[in-house]
Amino acid sequence: MSDLGTCDGCGLEIAGGTHGCQALFDQFRLRESAELAHDYGPTRLTIDTYSVQHPDRYCVSAKSLAAHLTGLCWALERGGSEAGLRALQRWLNRSVPLDKPDIPKDRGKLTVADIASAVETAAYQGALDRWARSTWEAYSPLHEVARHWIDEAVSQRG
Ligand SMILES: [Zn+2]
Repeated sequence: MSDLGTCDGCGLEIAGGTHGCQALFDQFRLRESAELAHDYGPTRLTIDTYSVQHPDRYCVSAKSLAAHLTGLCWALERGGSEAGLRALQRWLNRSVPLDKPDIPKDRGKLTVADIASAVETAAYQGALDRWARSTWEAYSPLHEVARHWIDEAVSQRG
């Protein structure tokens, strides 16, 4: 009997299925912060990308979906500044009423396995960028809503 399974979130084929994928992510996160990401700033893009690929666990509420999806959009389309991330956080903290849109079934071809195999920082940066962009592309039905959320967040001051 093979214990190869398929992750419900990202479709990765891995021993243990969804749990195996989560374990790979948890392990990778330790190595990411300890070895790979020193000079690369916050590793928030990794968390946002993994989260929108695994919405059953990380994007249950409209607010959590909005947090991760706007984080991804902010990083890839708007330059990813810290000031913008803080504005997004303030917007989310105001508990604005949000409707949760339908989440795409296709979450892109790349998974955490594609970045977890990176052995050094340059390979990691490239793999993270490709993984994040592929996932964001899979979410194209929600691009407009994500951009709208960002516009709301950054137009509020203070
Ligand atoms: Zn997965």
